[in-house]
Amino acid sequence: MSRSFKTIQFCAVLSLLAVTGCTPTDSTAAGGQSAASSVQMMELNKDLGHAEVNDAYRTTYEIFVYSFADSDNDGTGDLQGVISKLDYIEDMGFNQIWLMPVSPSGTYHKYDVDDYMAIDPAYGTMDDFDELISKCREKNINVIIDLVLNHTSVNHPWFKAAWDYLKELPSDWGPSSDYCPYFDYYNFSRDAQDGYAPLEGTNWYYEARFWSGMPDLNLGSERVRKEISDIMKFWIDHGVAGFRLDAVTSYYTGNNEMSTDFLKWLVSEGKSLKNDCYFVGEGWTDRNTFAGYYASGIDSMFDFSFANNEGVIASVLKGADAKAYGQAQVNEQELFSSINKNYINAPFYTNHDMARSAGYYVNDGGRKVKMAGAMNLLMSGNAFVYYGEELGMKGSGKDENKRAPMYWSSDPEAEGMCDGPADMDEVKMVWPSYEEQKDDDTSILNYYRQAIKTRNAFRSISHGTVTMADDLSSASICAYTKEYEGEKVLLVLNTTENEEDVNLSAYSEFNTLKAVLNTGEEEITFKDGTLHMPAFSIAVLTGE
Ligand code: CA
Repeated sequence: MSRSFKTIQFCAVLSLLAVTGCTPTDSTAAGGQSAASSVQMMELNKDLGHAEVNDAYRTTYEIFVYSFADSDNDGTGDLQGVISKLDYIEDMGFNQIWLMPVSPSGTYHKYDVDDYMAIDPAYGTMDDFDELISKCREKNINVIIDLVLNHTSVNHPWFKAAWDYLKELPSDWGPSSDYCPYFDYYNFSRDAQDGYAPLEGTNWYYEARFWSGMPDLNLGSERVRKEISDIMKFWIDHGVAGFRLDAVTSYYTGNNEMSTDFLKWLVSEGKSLKNDCYFVGEGWTDRNTFAGYYASGIDSMFDFSFANNEGVIASVLKGADAKAYGQAQVNEQELFSSINKNYINAPFYTNHDMARSAGYYVNDGGRKVKMAGAMNLLMSGNAFVYYGEELGMKGSGKDENKRAPMYWSSDPEAEGMCDGPADMDEVKMVWPSYEEQKDDDTSILNYYRQAIKTRNAFRSISHGTVTMADDLSSASICAYTKEYEGEKVLLVLNTTENEEDVNLSAYSEFNTLKAVLNTGEEEITFKDGTLHMPAFSIAVLTGE
């Protein structure tokens, strides 16, 4: 299959941008940083160790297989493409990947599943999946997959069987699951209701909250629960470490209590199949509401309060008080642990449903893009990074634009490059491609690598409990300690464009500047108890 004309146009624009150098800064580097500070970052951080990784506190890379890497030059990303990039993923420091849906589906995004126990042919085969798992294991990279249980596709055999049954059912007969068990799999009604779509060829309606192409499953059905258990077992047997659960607040739309009850059954069932099976739930709602789902016993809920263009991270970088970033973490610790003391937070900054972060800031020379990436990665729990954010990719508006081809190269014909979704607009990149960033110590890519390295070096950073250093914190400075099993670090962030001096004389136990993440020209210095923090910089101090 040849690449579409539209894509060629789109890619030509990208190439043009790359040639004309559209970086919004007069400094030459990919990310607007001079060499001096990256020298400090590379020098100081090179001695960082790597803490043992043996639990669900991970650094996770979210991959949209369709747009990530194409192994057979048909324009669509695939599992062999992911395999071909495992060295990259490992080199970046990720130790878990989340694959967005990989099962057969008629849509490019595949959130409407036709068959839960197979791989979409465009992505490859089960053998490819097994190979991916096996190669990830060699690198101690876990694989979790999207489990879309709220709804199936209308083309799923379960729905088609129920549909056929209702088409044949005489209008004066009552339906019976004894004759068609699949009638029990969905929520059918003879009455038009909010959230229901008419079932073509019948006088029935079916629940379809997102779209008529996605009929909601009847999650209260024992038959459906048996199917779900079999599906989980299938993928666990194929080596997944766990599941990302799509749309948990929609399990029972408008009823968090019933949705939480279903989640409780689901998590318990999964852990009976594999005792350390990991679950992370998507509940795109306010903090108190998604926190409530921890009552189900789920390991993680995505932390929507730090994410997106108006979350804590972006708000602070756009001028809210720096200390709000630390205080929000403290508040969440109290809230989440009061509901489930074993919770593992799942911080993320952007995902496939959100505009990419490079578009949140205007003319910042890449400094806020970098800083925001680190503010996500320095949070405790299982931190998620959406593919391409580490390059500062752009993408906003319709969903397709947020899922553009991974920008490996400014040459759209380069090995591994994908076409992207057919209905994608032209997405104008601001920052250079992977090829152009990879050997540049001042790039956004290298900054992400250093931020992940810093995270992975300290279990106190990936696992620790946050305590605010209120006396050091201000509108510009967020300072806090993190502690885990006796290991303690002091983190100091300058979230503004002004230089700041921080007097650490009351914190003499933190006498060593251990790691730095700097985005600008000046170095961080630590002399006579005073920490000098250039604009948009981060310092990690320990007691050695
Ligand atoms: Ca392909």
